[in-house]
Amino acid sequence: MVFDVVISGAGPNGLMLACELALAGVQPLVLEQRTGPSLEQRANGMVGQVIRMLDRRGLYERLTGSSRPPTPAQQFMFAAFPLPLHELPESPVYLVMVPQRKIEEMLAARAVELGVTIRSGHRLTGLAQKDDRVLVDVDGPDGGYRIETRYLVGADGGKSITRKLAGIEFPGITTDRTVGRTAHVTVPAELRDPVTGGLRVPGYGVIPPFLHHRTELGLIAYAPFPDGRTLISVNTSSLPAPDGDLTIAELQQALKHVLGGIEIPLGPPDGDGPHLLRRLSGGNTRLAERYRDGRVLLVGDAAHVHSAMGGPGLNLGLQDAVNLGWKLAATVRGWAPDALLDTYESERRPAGARVTMHTLAQHALTGPGPEVTALRTLFGELLQKPDVLQHIASLIAGSDIRYDVGTPPAGGFAPDLGPVTRSGRPLLVDNTGTLAEVAAPWRDRVDVVAVPVDGLSALLVRPDNYVAWASDVAAPDAGSLRTALTRWFGAPEVSGSGSPAA
Ligand SMILES: Cc1cc2nc3c(=O)[nH]c(=O)nc-3n(C[C@H](O)[C@H](O)[C@H](O)COP(=O)(O)OP(=O)(O)OC[C@H]3O[C@@H](n4cnc5c(N)ncnc54)[C@H](O)[C@@H]3O)c2cc1C
Repeated sequence: MVFDVVISGAGPNGLMLACELALAGVQPLVLEQRTGPSLEQRANGMVGQVIRMLDRRGLYERLTGSSRPPTPAQQFMFAAFPLPLHELPESPVYLVMVPQRKIEEMLAARAVELGVTIRSGHRLTGLAQKDDRVLVDVDGPDGGYRIETRYLVGADGGKSITRKLAGIEFPGITTDRTVGRTAHVTVPAELRDPVTGGLRVPGYGVIPPFLHHRTELGLIAYAPFPDGRTLISVNTSSLPAPDGDLTIAELQQALKHVLGGIEIPLGPPDGDGPHLLRRLSGGNTRLAERYRDGRVLLVGDAAHVHSAMGGPGLNLGLQDAVNLGWKLAATVRGWAPDALLDTYESERRPAGARVTMHTLAQHALTGPGPEVTALRTLFGELLQKPDVLQHIASLIAGSDIRYDVGTPPAGGFAPDLGPVTRSGRPLLVDNTGTLAEVAAPWRDRVDVVAVPVDGLSALLVRPDNYVAWASDVAAPDAGSLRTALTRWFGAPEVSGSGSPAA
């Protein structure tokens, strides 16, 4: 048997891709080396346009339990500057605070519901590309075996063995100086500021909650979560890591160092675990030189790694997965135009480059020393300007990404069309009543719907919710619509019924 698609890695991005492929009619096989849920504590939340994307698939409701659509955040941060997002006419920054474990559980359940097979305890160990398939070596609970697949996707994280075996370079930088120490702790009740919810530091001031706070010696984050647990994180490059595991005493010492000698007593956390106690030294910022090599593709952290500051990882990776899913499915099913799969890299690698750029910039802006303090004074002045605030907000939301599709609004994220986007199918929104006939030859791939949209009479929306074509006149140009349909959804059916290529 030859699989259509094998995905290596059941992290959030591999699972999201599996869901998207299944929605588009292709059942992938997912290999996961772990035998149970990941015990590593990573993301505490997601930020940016991905939240709207998840909502378009009905997944925001599954994650939060709320049937209301997501609303923009009133405040967020960039390089330890608070961003007053409520001052913007329309903030693109959406935020959901939920641990990564819960996101993975939700996506795994959805994938299984859509019929996806996930083989836990099966590790990809080798690959070889042939003209029409990839041979994949797997190490499973009963020993090694080989499978064949038409396409292989490496969703196997920053150390991706798929990327290495495919010979895809991972250029970038590794920094080894900064040490990040993070732990769940208790702090004395009298140091919790009742007005701001921040941490009162005697002789210093209040460290605001849920924001990075920079001093000339490092970075502090204080997060008193609503469930009663308190997380403190301290990053500094002037206090090397000792041997052995992090202790609360070491974190307390690092906090004292970054606060210039002011001691805050920290105790062990109370309440139910798991509790975090983590020391991370250094970090990587790297972007795969290619997202595709023949029949092997990369998605998520396998394609890009960067600082977790501001939490941009899942916004980037999950949207990679949504961009790739329908294109790979169309290729497998036979109706994709020749170059469709290559647009995955041409559209998403620049998005990865923007995230590596802004995380490095944040790193520079939060570094130690008086020069950085001066730079921050200047950057803080610039942030007072509404245009600059809007620019930074769009950057961290990833909503400034515009694909090379045509004249705007083509190339931008589509307006909310309600439940019709849950199917993951291409949509022609026709509010003129004249276009169904034009789209009829694509009826096996494209659904025609009527949903009122401000300022537009018709629009063609790709499954990843980006606009492929739009019109604002009562009698849209059928020729340009046909061109867009062909460009994104392939040649039309030859006869009037059935799918020629599925
Ligand atoms: C400390 C920390 C905090 C973070 N905080 C945030 C945050 O707040 N917000 C945010 O958006 N992002 C955050 N991130 C980033 C986010 O966690 C990652 O972007 C995300 O996990 C990437 O998902 P992925 O599916 O690409 O890779 P991973 O989550 O790394 O998943 C890869 C999977 O592949 C499996 N695998 C690996 N090799 C093989 C193999 N050979 N065969 C089979 N399976 C294999 C692994 O077991 C794993 O399950 C944080 C990251 C870290 C480290």
